[in-house]
Amino acid sequence: MKNKMTVSKMKKKVWTEFSKYIRTRDCLRTTGCSSWGLCVSCGKRYHFKLLQAGHFLPGRHNATLFYERGCHAQCFYCNMRLYGNTLSYMDALIKLYGEGIIEELRENDKIIKKFIIPELEDLRIGFKSKLKEVLNAQKPACEDPRMSKKSSKPR
Ligand SMILES: [Zn+2]
Repeated sequence: MKNKMTVSKMKKKVWTEFSKYIRTRDCLRTTGCSSWGLCVSCGKRYHFKLLQAGHFLPGRHNATLFYERGCHAQCFYCNMRLYGNTLSYMDALIKLYGEGIIEELRENDKIIKKFIIPELEDLRIGFKSKLKEVLNAQKPACEDPRMSKKSSKPR
């Protein structure tokens, strides 16, 4: 018998795409380069692979798990050690979306949501195409010397 797809397995699949999309979106927004991004809380620069998709509100339940405005590229230190480094995170959110964002996330946090597999499949496909969209929306501007191993001739 084939491996049966369960809601929790499917959620993990969506998370993979969601996390990739969130980190890429924020890398491009903060550095113009898809490989490097600034942590939403401390503002330090990290490689894409070292960034995590960190939620503003703890809990990670269904209604907030894949909510784009509540999740941003964050360094390990802020996300895990500082439990989200929420004060600086809040400042960044207000700068990005305006004052209403905190209330919006709080309201969203109250929603009780149950996922079904087809819905998760839609989400997965959706985040995949959003990733493509943000990558195509702007030309990468990676000026970091560590990025270009082959030395291109200066012009
Ligand atoms: Zn940080």
